This record gives sequence, structure tokens and C-alpha cells, in this order.
Amino acid sequence: MADMAEPRKVLLTEDEIPSAWFNVVPALPNRPGPYLHPQTREPIGPEALAPLFPMALIQQEVSAEQWVDIPGPVIDTYRLWRPTPLVRALDLERALGTPARIYYKYEGGSPAGSHKPNTAVAQAFYNSAEGVRRLTTETGAGQWGSALAFACARFGLECRVYMVRTSYDSKPYRRSLMETWGASVVPSPSPETAAGRAVLAAQPDSPGSLGIAISEAVEVAAGADDTHYALGSVLNHVLLHQTVIGLELKEQLAKIAVQPDVLVACVGGGSNFGGFTFPLLAEKLAGRSQTRIVAVEPTAAPTLTKGRYDYDLGDQAGMTPLMPMYTLGSDFVPAPIHAGGLRYHGDSPIVSLLAKEGHIEAVAYPQSKVFEAAVQFARTEGILPAPEPAHAIRAVVDEALRCKEEGKTETIVFNLCGHGHFDLKAYEDYLSGDLLDV
Ligand SMILES: *Cc1c(COP(=O)(O)O)cnc(C)c1O
Repeated sequence: MADMAEPRKVLLTEDEIPSAWFNVVPALPNRPGPYLHPQTREPIGPEALAPLFPMALIQQEVSAEQWVDIPGPVIDTYRLWRPTPLVRALDLERALGTPARIYYKYEGGSPAGSHKPNTAVAQAFYNSAEGVRRLTTETGAGQWGSALAFACARFGLECRVYMVRTSYDSKPYRRSLMETWGASVVPSPSPETAAGRAVLAAQPDSPGSLGIAISEAVEVAAGADDTHYALGSVLNHVLLHQTVIGLELKEQLAKIAVQPDVLVACVGGGSNFGGFTFPLLAEKLAGRSQTRIVAVEPTAAPTLTKGRYDYDLGDQAGMTPLMPMYTLGSDFVPAPIHAGGLRYHGDSPIVSLLAKEGHIEAVAYPQSKVFEAAVQFARTEGILPAPEPAHAIRAVVDEALRCKEEGKTETIVFNLCGHGHFDLKAYEDYLSGDLLDV
């Protein structure tokens, strides 16, 4: 059993919750290009986003300030589950027989079970402060929708969620969770919007996609004065809010005097990856560390590893600005793999530029290899990971096995950004041999 000299967990106290978010933009060697109007391809100004987002978030989207103060009511809500623990995966290390040290930051203890409330709470706060009455959004696996439903309940907002049809059918309990927090949930594509009707006319049994659901949620928000839209990933302000993870991590690593050799996180739109890595990435960009930073994605939606770097739309119908990013094309409809949160066609412009310029690495895995690692993690460390961070675990296991081969005592730290208690169908399929690679 555990050697008493080796701490299993590194904990912070509530007053060590960061009081400001970390904006990586001033630390970047180059900045991503501006967002462009989808028709004119001219750079858009803040006013173009005003029908969708409160001014505070629009300012954060284009901010060049290093630090952005976290409002008191947001910190008060963070206290429900933050700071989150940094845990040493001693039993996984032993099972692998690796000399590497493996740590994970666990974000699954939030009310919605993932990192997503870190930004949902901030977004709901700023919208309520500007007098907005209702938020619309899309959700894939249901994680973002449930995070926003929770946050809207805290700040007295109505919440309407367009849920990708395949997930709506396969994850009924996520829907119950959203409804318990008071949200209304609509399967997408839906007949409620012009965007949804256009897709249904062409393909009545469309499985839906995040791109389609975003079009629906944006259309509804743009058409109502009292309604705004909230996005759970990709945008700069979302990654900014998620840096509470990496700021806490930096404190925790300093407490045990550990310099990580490798940081690993999964990437759907890049928010848990960015939030987890940016504070330490800034040290690397400043030449103060040589930490390798690895982004992990599914082979079924290989945005960073196989996409093209170009301006593309964030949605399917062309309601969003064009953003410079790695993309598989805005009409990409991914195979219905279990990691719903990683099935997006694009990626954060900041994460995309970092990958393009070689500051971060990217790797892709098929889901059978991913679930093999997830089950090994559950059987050694106990926590049942969501299918998304199971991608990161796969990469961590492979890095640890490389260390074993090379006889290296490297320190590997990854973001366990959510638990998989709503993803048991995926585990059932894996355990019964029905999980397909696509
Ligand atoms: C949404 C989600 C993801 C993917 O989104 P990112 O913005 O890339 O973090 C990954 N893991 C979990 C648990 C999620 O809920």
C-alpha cells in the first residue's frame, strides 16, 4: 500500500481559490487573427457580438490584460467544489510498473461532474448582471448543458438547451439532470428554428451535430432581446475562465516542489486543455521550463492532427463569425462515438495557433484503446473517467510505458476533467465487446 512519505493528494484551502483568471494572450509569441464576418469576411467589432453576449464577456474575448478579476459571486459559487484536488496515481503507476510519477487534477467533483461549471457560473453571472432573462445553448454529451442549467439556477436565469439528437436519445439521464435544475431541453435538429428545419428537410433522421445545435441556439438568442447565447468551449473567454484549474495546479505543484515533464489533457474545443495548461505554458513560452504539452483527441474527430488550419465557421448554418483554427469543415458530422464532448469540427483559435507553431503536441486515439485505459484507471485509481478525459489517460499510460522502456523518472500530470457516471452505456458496450472503432 501507499508509502507514507509520498502524499497521495495535494489540497488547497478555500482562500487559495484564485482571485483572478489568467489570460494567456499577452504571453503568446503571436496572436490569433481576428474573427471575421461570415459574409463580408471583414474583421468584426464588439458590437457584432452584442446580440449574443454581455459586454463583460465580449471585453474578455478581446482582452490583452494578463489578469481578469473573478467577481465575488462567482468565487462564492466556486467554493461549492473548489479548490479541486491534485492526486498522485500511485496505484496506476504500480500497475504499469513505471518509474514515472503520474498526477491528475480532478474536476469531476463539481455539481455537473466536469470542469464546465467553471465557465458556466461566470457566464450566467455576467448575463444576469446585465439584465438578461434567458440563455440558450447547445450540448453534445449533455455536460455543457447540465453545467449551464446548474449555473442558470444559481443566478435566476431561464435556460434552453438544444441537445444533439444522438445524445438526447442515448443519454436520457443528462436530460433529467438539466430538467431538475430547471432547464428546458430540445433535441436538435428541431422544427423550432429555420436552421433545424433546413437540416430536417434534407435528412429527417439526422443524428445532429454540435454545429447544427449551435446554429439553433444562436438563431433563437439573436431573435429575442431578453435572450443571450452561451458557448461552453472554443472562445477565448471560456478558456480564460477555465484557467482556475491551471492556476490551482501551479500552486499545488509548487507546494510539493514538482516541475512537470509532461502535461496532458483531452481536446474537444480546447477549454479544459487551455484552462489546465495555460499558466504553465506561459512559463514554457517565457523560456523558464521545457514541459511538453500534449493535446489528445479522438481519431473520429481528428481536428488538430488531421484538420486544416484556416478560417472557418463555428456552426453549421453560418450564424457565427469565421475563426482562424484547425477545422474538419463546419459541415462535418462525426461518427457517434461515446466521447460526445470531443466531436466538434473546430478548436479554440488559441490552442490551434499553439499547435500550428509547435508549442504543443497533438495525438489521436481510437475509442477501443481509450476505453482500455479508462478501465485500467478505474480498476487501479477507483474513479470512473468520462470518455473524454479517458483519451488523456490513454496518452498518459503510453507516456508512462515509454518512461518504463527508457528508464526515466518523468513527472506526468493530466486533467481528469470529468467523471463518467452518465456514460455507463459506453462502458457497457466496451465490456461486452460491442464498442466499435470508426
Ligand atoms: C465538454 C467536455 C470536454 C470537451 O470540451 P473542451 O472544451 O475541449 O474541454 C471534455 N471533457 C469533458 C468532461 C467535457 O465535459
